[in-house]
Amino acid sequence: MDEALTYHGSCHCGAVRYTAKSPAITAAMSCNCSFCRRSGGLLAFVPVHDFTLHSGSEVLQDYQFGKKVIHHLFCAACGIGSFGRGSLPDGTEMVALNVRCLDEIDADTLAIKHFDGKSL
Ligand SMILES: [Zn+2]
Repeated sequence: MDEALTYHGSCHCGAVRYTAKSPAITAAMSCNCSFCRRSGGLLAFVPVHDFTLHSGSEVLQDYQFGKKVIHHLFCAACGIGSFGRGSLPDGTEMVALNVRCLDEIDADTLAIKHFDGKSL
C-alpha cells in the first residue's frame, strides 16, 4: 500500500484551507461535463475521512445542477472552487480535490485521465 502523503489546498484568497491525505497523486481527472469544461478544474478523489477543512466553512457557497448529487463548493470571496463533495454509487462519501489548488502539485506534470461526464 502506498504511503499516504498530506496535501495542502486553498482557494485564491486563502479563506478556504484544507488538508487531504492521499497516496501520491500522479494523475488527475479531466471531466467534460457542462460544469467542469467551464471551470477547468482537474480532480483527484479522497474519502471524506481523509479530508480536513481547516477554514472557510463560512465563505463556501454550494452550487448544484443536474441530478444534484455533487456539491460544487466555491469561495464567496474569490470564486475559486478548490474542492467538491459527493458520494460513490455505494454511498461512500468522497471529496473531489481540485489538484490545481494543491500546494504540492504541478498539474502540468500529471497524467490526465479523461472522464466523459457529459454523457452521464
Ligand atoms: Zn477565496
